Amino acid sequence: MIYQRSSQLFADAEKVIPGGVNSPVRAFKGVGGTPLFAKSAKGAYLYDEDGNRLIDYINSWGPMILGHAFPPVVEAVIERAKSGTSFGMPTELETQIASLAISMVPNIDKIRFVNSGTEACMSAIRLARGYTKRDKIIKFAGCYHGHSDSFLIQAGSGASTFGTPNSPGVTQGTAKDTLLANYNDLENVKALFDANKNEIAAIIIEPVAGNMGCVPPREGFLQALRQICDENNALLIFDEVMTGFRLAKGGAQELYGVTADIVCFGKVIGGGLPVGAFAARNEIMNHLAPLGPVYQAGTLSGNPLAMAAGLAMLEALHKDAEVFKRLEAKTSYLHRGIHKVLTDNGMAFTINRVGSMISVHFDAEPVVDFQTAKNGDNDTFKRFFHGLLNEGVYIAPSAYETWFITDALTYEDLDFTINAINKVAQTL
Ligand code: PMP
Repeated sequence: MIYQRSSQLFADAEKVIPGGVNSPVRAFKGVGGTPLFAKSAKGAYLYDEDGNRLIDYINSWGPMILGHAFPPVVEAVIERAKSGTSFGMPTELETQIASLAISMVPNIDKIRFVNSGTEACMSAIRLARGYTKRDKIIKFAGCYHGHSDSFLIQAGSGASTFGTPNSPGVTQGTAKDTLLANYNDLENVKALFDANKNEIAAIIIEPVAGNMGCVPPREGFLQALRQICDENNALLIFDEVMTGFRLAKGGAQELYGVTADIVCFGKVIGGGLPVGAFAARNEIMNHLAPLGPVYQAGTLSGNPLAMAAGLAMLEALHKDAEVFKRLEAKTSYLHRGIHKVLTDNGMAFTINRVGSMISVHFDAEPVVDFQTAKNGDNDTFKRFFHGLLNEGVYIAPSAYETWFITDALTYEDLDFTINAINKVAQTL
């Protein structure tokens, strides 16, 4: 494959944009080499600036669940743009998408739209703190909730109660209010509640983790968190930025039958435009400005183009009763195919999957938390990534990311991918 033009464009970008990218993981730091520059995309395929065609398993990191340039979204955006691109005033569209989202998701009465998943999670914990009048939150090592200060906290030593910032610029003062737990480790969570009586505002969790590769919750784990929160008058926040409108119409709450107090959205909810949202029952949402004292705002929040795209996307998902079943069937076909060819090639691996979120870890042991996710063989992953790229299959350039399956993929695309994986596995 030729990457000549992408290489030149990257060199130009590096002169004027830090690292040549506007979001770090795009830079291929984890796998080496030069990132491809996108020119266009349609359905399941990406076309780069050198004219290469790639089967896309990133799908803009999740939003393109129905494929790139999905016609109803494209048409909605074009039509809407003709009437103005931003007003800073309420529009009817915002009520329409809010009503539809509320009808699809369990246990929410009101929803507030923002511009990214980061904003959604940042606002959700402010609301939880304002509502409970407590400062501390529990997050899980390996979960990503955007780049606001409270979340950029890495796992300290196993016994450590207080997090340490993992980015310069995050103060110790902020870090001390973020308590870290290991994913799927209930005892750890209980110990944090015991050591911080009446101080914990909320637990925030990716109900299916997707930022350490895909790591599903152990059976009963989410239910147990619900119970612990109830016993301690703390809120349970589901960060459904990845899982929302992907695992089911009502996201992970519906799939696992567990209700959260606040739910965060991003990715699919915007149809590829910059949209995030957070939602809860009235008793919580009514604490938000202008009804209540918890402040949160945005010049471009509820932007008409973004709302038009999001509404077209949610309507398509709402109308198509089979879409989540199709996604499950396609991803499970891919799962079986990858499992077979990696086994045939004698590789050590684990595949984790929930619905249309899937990832391959190059370690034979179960991957249940950040520690076990880190045991994966990164060298093998790098060669796997570049081998697949060379075959025209584009997966996330990091072992810590989930593949997002789109309904635009055909079974021929999946067979092509499985064959490509077989070819690459022979070289590993
Ligand atoms: N939460 C989760 C679970 C995410 O995966 C992400 C982004 N990958 C975010 C929050 C942050 O969203 P954004 O990048 O839109 O700010």
